[in-house]
Amino acid sequence: MKNDCIFCAIAAGEIPSFKVYEDDLVLAYLDINPFTKGHTLVIPKAHSAGLLDTGDDVLAAVVARVKKVAAHLKAALPCDGFNILQNNGEAAGQTVKHIHFHIIPRYAGEPLTFESKPGDMAELAALADRISG
Ligand code: 5GP
Ligand code: ZN
Repeated sequence: MKNDCIFCAIAAGEIPSFKVYEDDLVLAYLDINPFTKGHTLVIPKAHSAGLLDTGDDVLAAVVARVKKVAAHLKAALPCDGFNILQNNGEAAGQTVKHIHFHIIPRYAGEPLTFESKPGDMAELAALADRISG
């Protein structure tokens, strides 16, 4: 765990999150500034900054969890498609330096934008309850 890392604090349960999925290796939770309904972040619990800092074995396991969570979201939301986004470095828009994969659900007829909006906390809580339960 890295001391000043907000995602390490979330993984340790020190900061609450709207959890979607958890196992020994990863945690998946709703982004508090979603692009779309159900926008989810998947992180390894162990800290590493980005793709190039993460071991191949961890990456392979995390991507398998990304697939599992995406399949679950597709069925549970339900959504019509999804984007996977993984930013590396400030120039690429990475704001949190703990590797994370965005799963951005997409809905037929909605514009394909990459803009975040502050989420409504009550709605996020209800959504996380519904899709994790
Ligand atoms: P990045 O731009 O680094 O790829 O994405 C970081 C994401 O983390 C952003 O979409 C931002 O909304 C999200 N984020 C930042 N702080 C928190 C937090 O405390 N909780 C949650 N659930 N998401 C966060
Ligand atoms: Zn971290």
